[in-house]
Amino acid sequence: MALADRLIAQIRANGPLTVAQFMTACLHDPQDGYYATRPALGEDGDFITAPLVSQMFGELIGLWLVQTWIDLGRPAPFRLVEMGPGDGTLMSDILRAARVAPDVLPAADIWLVEVSEPLRAQQAERLAGQPIHWAGSLAEVPAGAPLLLVANELLDCLAPRQFVRTARAWAERLVSVDDQGRLAWGLGGVAALPLPDGAPAPAPGQVLELCAGQQALGAELGARMAADGGAALLIDYGRAAPGYGDTLQALSRHQKVDVLATAGQADLTVHADFPAVVAAARAAGAAAAPILTQGEFLMRLGIVPRAEALAAARPERADQIERQLLRLIAPDQMGELFKVACLCQSGLTPPAFETAA
Ligand code: SAH
Repeated sequence: MALADRLIAQIRANGPLTVAQFMTACLHDPQDGYYATRPALGEDGDFITAPLVSQMFGELIGLWLVQTWIDLGRPAPFRLVEMGPGDGTLMSDILRAARVAPDVLPAADIWLVEVSEPLRAQQAERLAGQPIHWAGSLAEVPAGAPLLLVANELLDCLAPRQFVRTARAWAERLVSVDDQGRLAWGLGGVAALPLPDGAPAPAPGQVLELCAGQQALGAELGARMAADGGAALLIDYGRAAPGYGDTLQALSRHQKVDVLATAGQADLTVHADFPAVVAAARAAGAAAAPILTQGEFLMRLGIVPRAEALAAARPERADQIERQLLRLIAPDQMGELFKVACLCQSGLTPPAFETAA
């Protein structure tokens, strides 16, 4: 039975689903979930990510990791971890760039945290010959050594619950079944909601997203940073200040499609709630640097001179490199919507960021 039909039967038997339950089923249902069965990244797939736009992205992150490792006092061993590594391009570019410091890779115990079997297969193929371990969750990556971690577009896969402000209260946005037997939006009552610190007073109709999964990851990373040391770079589209908005979207072949009409067939994402992730990490004992936009972060790491050097070496590709550069940093492309947060052990000033606190 198709996922939508199974969800309809489940809702009829047990009542409506929260947005988080629905999104998790669409992404990870073992039979029909998008990541379990048909993830398609890249120009020919459903969505494109920064490492697939240009090798410059992964190379600069590789150099960021090397500099952070040096700043940490060259720990050996350390765990080099990527969460949600997609088709393996980012890790492949990181490893190539990291060879500038000959001591870093011999000290690295490399882990990919991935739940998608088809993507694990792509990662294994792209990174063949490298000494890499896979884990299904961060908890499976052994503790006891500093962690240098990167996750690009992982937070946006972690599903929120959504709440709609009515005249004087909150109602939860739910997925239910309509009179024609199709999936449809519904509302359920809510007693009280913890408003995020610093959020403005809500106006009727506004949507609040609370993402337990993103907060849990912030807390888990924070606890690891406090216990074992290191730094974690989280890159995603999302908000840098608490606020409202329904950010759930489904993408198929680079087009937005109806969230309820495409269960399991499209990639579903939400914005990363960076303030909540950072607060959870701090509460667990880590420091966090002020959030940067992706454009600012990459420019501080020297992406403009890097693009110029690549273009000088390959003049026939200069126009393409310029387009890729703008895609990553221009404010009207990925430069401002995407943000970069760094969680780390206290006392560190991570490259490109100001002192973390
Ligand atoms: N980082 C890659 C891919 C982003 S797509 C890039 O930038 O190109 C999201 C990635 O997160 C995929 O690899 C997906 O399988 C993985 N993912 C989704 N939910 C996850 C979870 N709960 N735990 C670990 N990985 C997850």
